[in-house]
Amino acid sequence: MGKKKYVYLFSEGDASMKNLLGGKGANLAEMTNLNIPVPQGFTVTTEACNKYYDDGEVVESEVIEEIYERMTELEKITGKGFGSLDNPLLVSVRSGARASMPGMMDTILNLGLNDDTVEVMAKITENPRFAYDSYRRFIQMFSDVVMDIEKRMFEDILDEMKKEKGANLDTDLNADDLKELVKKYKALYKKEKGEEFPRDPKVQLIESIKAVFRSWNNPRAIVYRRLNDIPAKWGTAVNVQEMVFGNKGNTSGTGVAFSRNPSTGEKHIFAEYLMNAQGEDVVAGIRTPHPISKLKEDMPNIYEEFLKIVNILENHYRDMQDMEFTIEEGKLYFLQTRNGKRTAQAALKIAVDLVEEGMLTKEEAILKVEPKQLDSLLHPAFDSNALKENSPIAKGLPASPGAACGKISFTANEAKERAEAGERVVLVRLETSPEDIEGMIAAEGILTVRGGMTSHAAVVARGMGTCCVAGCGDLKVNEISKTLEVQGKVYTDKDYISIDGSTGNIYGCEINTVEPEISGYFEIFMKWADEIRTMKVRTNADTPRDASQAVKFGAEGIGLCRTEHMFFAEDRILAVREMIVAKNEEQRRKALEKLLPMQREDFVGIYEAMEHRPCTIRLLDPPLHEFLPHNEEDVLGLAKELGITVEELKATIDSLHEFNPMMGHRGCRLAVSYPEIAEMQTRAIIEAAVEVKKNHGYDIVPEIMIPLVGEIKELKFVKDIVVTTAESILKESSIDMKYLVGTMIEVPRAALTADEIAKEAEFFSFGTNDLTQMTFGFSRDDAGKFLKDYYDRKIYESDPFAKLDQDGVGILVRMAAEKGRQTRSDIKLGICGEHGGDPSSVEFCHNLGLNYVSCSPFRVPLARLAAAQAQVKNKR
Ligand code: PEP
Ligand code: MG
Repeated sequence: MGKKKYVYLFSEGDASMKNLLGGKGANLAEMTNLNIPVPQGFTVTTEACNKYYDDGEVVESEVIEEIYERMTELEKITGKGFGSLDNPLLVSVRSGARASMPGMMDTILNLGLNDDTVEVMAKITENPRFAYDSYRRFIQMFSDVVMDIEKRMFEDILDEMKKEKGANLDTDLNADDLKELVKKYKALYKKEKGEEFPRDPKVQLIESIKAVFRSWNNPRAIVYRRLNDIPAKWGTAVNVQEMVFGNKGNTSGTGVAFSRNPSTGEKHIFAEYLMNAQGEDVVAGIRTPHPISKLKEDMPNIYEEFLKIVNILENHYRDMQDMEFTIEEGKLYFLQTRNGKRTAQAALKIAVDLVEEGMLTKEEAILKVEPKQLDSLLHPAFDSNALKENSPIAKGLPASPGAACGKISFTANEAKERAEAGERVVLVRLETSPEDIEGMIAAEGILTVRGGMTSHAAVVARGMGTCCVAGCGDLKVNEISKTLEVQGKVYTDKDYISIDGSTGNIYGCEINTVEPEISGYFEIFMKWADEIRTMKVRTNADTPRDASQAVKFGAEGIGLCRTEHMFFAEDRILAVREMIVAKNEEQRRKALEKLLPMQREDFVGIYEAMEHRPCTIRLLDPPLHEFLPHNEEDVLGLAKELGITVEELKATIDSLHEFNPMMGHRGCRLAVSYPEIAEMQTRAIIEAAVEVKKNHGYDIVPEIMIPLVGEIKELKFVKDIVVTTAESILKESSIDMKYLVGTMIEVPRAALTADEIAKEAEFFSFGTNDLTQMTFGFSRDDAGKFLKDYYDRKIYESDPFAKLDQDGVGILVRMAAEKGRQTRSDIKLGICGEHGGDPSSVEFCHNLGLNYVSCSPFRVPLARLAAAQAQVKNKR
């Protein structure tokens, strides 16, 4: 086998080598092949980065040798010498991963300068000011990025000097000032590091490459990777490129350009530049850049060439490009190009336009929009100008997207009352529980101190499309004194708070929100996605309101209706509690009788909202104690209402206490103990279907789902109750209606014995929330507290409750799907855990051939797009 190659000249690569050369490296190679004027250089591969980590954070000598060899070739190409005292070659060193991660990793410019080469540069360019300005920038960047010396220390020295010299701007300092500054910078370096600033360009280079490798694992890069599903094992490449200078005087300049408008998607070039500046000046916003139209006046030839290249690049990549360019003494260079980041609106418009311009097929266009981006189109957002003026007071988990602003409300009841009186409120709780539901509905947004992405607050808020920030441990909330304390400031229920469920940011003031605008492009685009995808998309919806919302977003059925969510409404919670504290079957049946008409009415509403679409309705699932009051006052009230003594009620509540309620008396176990509950719910489900079929003629096939099954016999036991009840109703009503009985696969034992289970189950729905909880063995309500430590220590890269763990939980899902099909070849398979709304998990489900994914209404468009993308990527 030949020796592995770790370093490629730009002329040796092309766009197809993105995995090896990173996005930036592959594009620099491609631009070189297209004869675009690109300063030349070489790319150290992502494999070299992985090797660096495998070898214990060292760059092996064979890689170093290869870097030097390519450097020698670069010297030939440029006619300059690295460290030469005749014509020194200066380079930039930049990161470049497979996926672009703007601003996440580090860059070093002007590398190759030292006390000798800087003098040569000053002479050649006849511009000592430029040479020393470049040098001081290099010292600062190298010290900061490579040696971890705080940037602020250098900035302080610069500010001091400006004050001393009476200079307003950096550009007011002359060559001698900058020379003096360089001395001070080097002295600082020596003081901090106990050694001289490295003079040898080769040492500077290798140390910088190492620093870029290290920056792959800096905290902000790790967080960015987690948010964007970028695996740590990809590594980053490093690009070493000849420097060209935009700060060489008035015929030099630098800028950034987008081939279309990145915020609206409109088809016109959107670019800005600064003359006599280096890239960081444009980005840092120290001087206000000019619009590109000015270049047409100042340098018409360059402007024409610029336009030509932008068009070549957009046509070549068939996508909106984000480019950096530099003009060095009247010569134009392109330093990089990549597919530009864009807002959701822009992404949709560009995708549709590119198809209409004949540049892309619909299949290709479908891949151009990030599914997660669609979220921002479906929720109110903060006015971006207002946002700029405020900084967050704390940050929690972005649990349910959107923006909300209102006065703080510390209890659900109060939130409901104040909202009914016309006030805008944000519900702030330590954590929410099912009894908070009405306050959660009434509030503009929900903020909790505890709980993760699948906590009650997060799941319910997503279901309702309400903005939610969860698990913000920095807040000190006292629900009794009704205060919230953060950063030493105390807020009360008279104060405004604003929360951003898309970023997790919390603001201690009132910020205006704007309603989302859904343009026609959204509809056109989603129609294409629907034509392409093969997997259905259903929704998790518990109320007619949610169901209608989901239908508007394109849901093709209900994959999970959690019947217990209806039990908390004011008009029925008493009957539910009566049922729970009942001493015997007779008392329980009496309470259930009261609930029956209400449940039936719920289902009528849901069937009507869904018309002919299929509905999976799940029998009661949570542990019963969740329905009982917990504080003294409520217990007293309830005892009175039920006509029993407080002691009796307390004894019942105590008896329902469980050490591990999530693994306790819940799911089908309730129906095993109290068959009459399953009987009442089946009656409501079937009677409602009969009624709606009679009234509207919809062809309804109810799907009755039995939760938390782990053993075929327990499924059979509950199924028998369901079937006996359903048959007797249907016989009585003399209506010919089909119905299905199936189960959730959410206990590992159910997955392991799925071939047996499928003998009784006509469908499986993967409840991957519980399946993840029970497979990992950690609580879905508490894991948020310690998962951060796992990310920090690189044990897990992402939250397994948000993104399906394909290597573990996914194996169980696959096994159950296969075993289920062995027994019953036409078994209907779906997923209704939170993962049904996560793009990579949707792709996994598509690849397993599941019939549908089901997710909360506001994620339905996302899942439709993810399913279409999965089909384009992995045709089935
Ligand atoms: C699940 O466990 O994945 C599920 C959908 O059920 P729930 O979240 O209601 O427990
Ligand atoms: Mg479950």
